[in-house]
Amino acid sequence: MEFLDVPTILKVSAAFNLMAALAWLTLAQAFRIAPRAGRLMAAGHVLRFATQDWGGGLAGWPPLLQQAIPEFGLLGCIVLLLLALRRMLRSRRPPSDIAWVGGLGAFGIAVGLAIGSAPATELASAAAVTTLALLAVREVVRGVGSQLSRIATGVTTLPFALLAGMSLAHGAELLLEPSWSGHLLRGELPTPERAVLWYVVTASITLSLIALMVWRVVTRIQHLTYRDPLTGSLNRRAFEQALTEAQAQLQRGHGFALAMIDIDHFKRVNDLHGHPAGDAALQHCVRIWQAGLRKVDRLGRLGGEEFCALLPLASPGDLATAAAVTERLRAALAAEPLAWEGLLLPLSASFGVALPVAGDAAGEIGLARADAELYRAKAEGRNRVCVATHLLGATA
Ligand code: GH3
Ligand code: MG
Ligand code: MG
Repeated sequence: MEFLDVPTILKVSAAFNLMAALAWLTLAQAFRIAPRAGRLMAAGHVLRFATQDWGGGLAGWPPLLQQAIPEFGLLGCIVLLLLALRRMLRSRRPPSDIAWVGGLGAFGIAVGLAIGSAPATELASAAAVTTLALLAVREVVRGVGSQLSRIATGVTTLPFALLAGMSLAHGAELLLEPSWSGHLLRGELPTPERAVLWYVVTASITLSLIALMVWRVVTRIQHLTYRDPLTGSLNRRAFEQALTEAQAQLQRGHGFALAMIDIDHFKRVNDLHGHPAGDAALQHCVRIWQAGLRKVDRLGRLGGEEFCALLPLASPGDLATAAAVTERLRAALAAEPLAWEGLLLPLSASFGVALPVAGDAAGEIGLARADAELYRAKAEGRNRVCVATHLLGATA
C-alpha cells in the first residue's frame, strides 16, 4: 500500500461521501425515487463528510472537539443510514430501537470524553456501531429475505455484517489493549490498510443501499405491470401468463385446476349503494379469497367482477381437492358480509371448477370449461360450486 497514504484515502472517502450525498439527493428530489430514504441517505453522507477529519479541517480545534466531532458524526451517520434502510424496505417498525442504541452510544461517547478516556470513548462508539450494523443485517434479512435468493440476500447484508465485524474486532482490540492508540473508526486512521478497509466497507454499504433501491423500483414496476390496482390480485395479462406456464407444466405431470368465479348480483351493490361500495366489495372478496387460498394458488381478476383461481394440484386429476378449496372460498365469502357505512351487505359468488387437459391449447379451453360450470352454478341458483366431472377420465 505504499502508493496510498492515509490523507489521500481520507480525501477520496470525503469526495465519495459528497458525491453519494448528491446522487441520493438527485434521485430523491429530481426523480422522486425513494424520496424519504434518499434524503436520509444524503443527510448521512453529508454528516460523515462534515465530521470526518479528512485533511486538517479540525486541526486548529480544541483536542476534545477533535475527538468528539468524528465520533458523534460517525454514530449520527450510521443512525441516518439505518433509518434510510428501514424506509427503503418499507418497514413499519417504529425507529425506537435505533433511537435507543444511538442515544446510549452518544451517552457513552460523552462519558468517555468527559472522563478523558479515549479507549472508553471508542469502546462506546464501537459497541453502538456494532449493534446498529447488526440491526441493519436483521432489517435486510427480514425485509427482502423471503423475496430474494439466499445469495442476493447474503450479498446485500454482507457490508453491514462486515461493519459489525470490524467494529466488534475494534472493541475487542480496545479491551485487550486499552493503551493502544490506533483508531479504526476515527478520522485519524493508523495504517493505509485500515483506511482502505474502512473505505471499502462504507462504499459497499452505499452500493448495497443502491441495490435495495433498484430492487424496490423493480418490484414496484412489477406490481404495476402484473397486479390489478383495485384489488391487488393478478391482472388478466399476468393470470394468462401464469396459466400458460401451468399448462406447459401439465405435460410434465404437474396438474392444476381452474376455479372461475363471478360475484352474484354485483350490479345491485353498485345500484343500491354506489360505485365506491362496489369497489369496496371487490376488495373485500379478494381479501377473503386470498386468505383462503394456499401460497401456491394464483388469483386473477379477469375483468369486472369476474375472477379465476389457478390451483396447482399435488396429483393431477385431484378434482376433490380443487372442489374443497373452492368450496372453502365460497363459504368464507358467504359467512362474512361487507361492512359498508354502518350496514352489513351480504355477498356471495358462484364458482365453476374444471381440470385442464394436457392437449388444451394455451389453457383457454380449460378456462372455457370452468366458465361453462360457472354458468351452470348461476343457473342453478348462485352461491354454489359446480364441478366439471365429465372430463375426469381424460385427465386421470
Ligand atoms: P350475476 O349474479 O348474474 O353475476 O349478476 P351481476 O349483477 O353480478 O352481473 P352483471 O354482469 O349484470 O353486473 C356486473 C357489474 O359489475 C356491472 C358493472 O357495472 C360492475 N363492475 C364491473 N367492474 C367494476 C368495478 O371495478 N367497480 C365497480 N364498483 N363495479 C364494477
Ligand atoms: Mg356477477
Ligand atoms: Mg359477470
